[in-house]
Amino acid sequence: MPKTKKLWADPNREGRSKGPKGERFCSRCGNTIQTARILKAHNLCEFCVKELAGKRDGVWSCRSCGRIAPEELREHKGYCKHCICSACGRHDSFVKKTGLCMECSKKIGDFCRICGKEASAQVRHNRGLCDACVKKR
Ligand SMILES: [Zn+2]
Ligand SMILES: [Zn+2]
Ligand SMILES: [Zn+2]
Ligand SMILES: [Zn+2]
Repeated sequence: MPKTKKLWADPNREGRSKGPKGERFCSRCGNTIQTARILKAHNLCEFCVKELAGKRDGVWSCRSCGRIAPEELREHKGYCKHCICSACGRHDSFVKKTGLCMECSKKIGDFCRICGKEASAQVRHNRGLCDACVKKR
C-alpha cells in the first residue's frame, strides 16, 4: 500500500535523533513515533486519528465522512472537500450521490454548466459538465 505508507511518518527514519527536529510525536496526546504510528501531515498518532475520525467533530474530522482534514474543515464549515457541493460549497446528504447539493442538482439538471448542452448522463457523471467541456479544462 504505497499510498498509506506516505501518510505515516517512518519510525526508522524519524524520531531517532535528539533535538526538536528529530522528535516526531502526537500533538494531541504526546505518543511518540516509537510507540504509535504518526500521521505526517497533522502530527497525530494512530489512536488519536481513530478517536477523532469516530467523533466527526467538524474540527479535526469531517462531520459527514470522518476524514481527518482540519484545513479543509475550516474552509468548508466542518466538512471535507469530498463532502461539499462542487458548485456552491454547501453540504447536504445529496452530495454523496452526485457531488452536488440538492439545490444545485436541480438547478443544473441535465445541462452542462459551461456550454449548456443537454446531456444528462455526462453532466451527472462530470458534476455539471459535458464530456467535451471536461476535456477542454
Ligand atoms: Zn495521539
Ligand atoms: Zn468528508
Ligand atoms: Zn450546491
Ligand atoms: Zn459542455
